[in-house]
Amino acid sequence: MTEIEAIIGLETHIQLNTRSKIFCSCKADSWEDPPNTNICPVCTGLPGVLPVLNRTVVEKAVLLAGAMHAESIQSVSYFARKNYFYPDLPKGYQISQYDEPLARGGFMEIPMPDGTVRRVTIHKLHIEEDAGKTVRAEGRRLIDFNRCGVPLIEMVTGPDLRSAEEAAQYLMRLRQLLRWLEISEADMEKGQLRCDANVSIRPVGDETLNPKTEIKNVNSIDAVRQAIQTEIERQTREVAAGKRIEAWTLEWDEDKGSLYKMRSKETEADYRYFREPDLLPILVDSDWREAVLRTMTELPLDRRARFVAEYDLPGYDAEILTEERSLSEYFEATLGLRPGEAKTVSNWMMNDVLRSLRDRGLTASRLRMRPEDLAQIIGMVDDKQITTNTGKELLEKVEATGIAPIELVAAEGLAKVSDDAQLRNLAEEILNSSQDQVEAYRAGKTTLIGWFVGQVMRKTGGKADPQRTRAILEELLAG
Ligand SMILES: [Zn+2]
Repeated sequence: MTEIEAIIGLETHIQLNTRSKIFCSCKADSWEDPPNTNICPVCTGLPGVLPVLNRTVVEKAVLLAGAMHAESIQSVSYFARKNYFYPDLPKGYQISQYDEPLARGGFMEIPMPDGTVRRVTIHKLHIEEDAGKTVRAEGRRLIDFNRCGVPLIEMVTGPDLRSAEEAAQYLMRLRQLLRWLEISEADMEKGQLRCDANVSIRPVGDETLNPKTEIKNVNSIDAVRQAIQTEIERQTREVAAGKRIEAWTLEWDEDKGSLYKMRSKETEADYRYFREPDLLPILVDSDWREAVLRTMTELPLDRRARFVAEYDLPGYDAEILTEERSLSEYFEATLGLRPGEAKTVSNWMMNDVLRSLRDRGLTASRLRMRPEDLAQIIGMVDDKQITTNTGKELLEKVEATGIAPIELVAAEGLAKVSDDAQLRNLAEEILNSSQDQVEAYRAGKTTLIGWFVGQVMRKTGGKADPQRTRAILEELLAG
């Protein structure tokens, strides 16, 4: 049987996190607001109004184009009207960009779980406004205009992805990048990152592009993976049965886990594009472009590579520490105070700080415990002033109270008990009250040492120095 490969291209819509909409001063994020509360004559398309472009939208788009290594960020680009009729599109057209988009060309390199890197080309990147939302309720269609005029970036990839898993990896890296650049919250469940997938198949080695189908309305990365896989399998079955693939638009039904046909696809001619007469061209001169691009921080994959090279961290640690920008910054800030201890700091971050973040649903930038506090805790554990367990507990206490670790240790008497006389007293007490265990130990069941150490730990609230305790117990039990 001929081996089949899938050819996948993704079209993503990215909702920018600007405060106001793209052409008016209405609040852009309406996620928790009642319907039709963030609207005005401009975004609801009343006659006689004129749109005014939000400068921040252009800046965020230029930043993303830069991160995508765009071949050209156009000094002049234009808005166009995309005409179609839909109840939640009050103007009867969407203001978008068409023949002269803001940026062309570029690529994103996506590391795959098998260690290879897939270079995904970006065909074009443009700015547009969102349409409203139609909600079906009680047999009626209700329209919410809050989303009208919310700024979007549309980004189209080349047909460079070869499997459902690769498409999922692309979306994960894109989401990471958008959050890193602070241009979108990129939450697919909230529609802040939307993805349509174009899928076709061909025998491996073949260079032709066969008719493709477009999958719409997929709202999570898992759903994208499943929908594409389902479509690859359907096309493979059709071709094996001697049928031809037609250029359908498909919708993914998440509950049923199946695709159904929406309509035959519109062609671009159906949209009757023309230049938007109410807006001037977008002029991005080199000064402005350079000023925006100068604000670009080191990108996640570059930082990941640097953490491995500069701090000798395992790739796994570097990957986790750079999942989110403020986490990577937190790590470096802490490391700055504990130089040369990259792996130790990384362990504390990955085991304890991350758990605390996940429990609280926070990012590192919102932690109450500062890198100085973490460095102080690590320092006290290293210097054997406190036990590792006390250190872990301190982390939670600092986060809950905002009090510096050193002060908590003093105020709560958390310093490690390594005073031999005190430990010896405790150990004798425990041996005297555990005659059965002592006899068992002396009869050869030496694994009981752990139990004895545990008893001393309990008595000291985990503050006993475990090595000293063990040595003292062994000496007493031998006697
Ligand atoms: Zn408005």
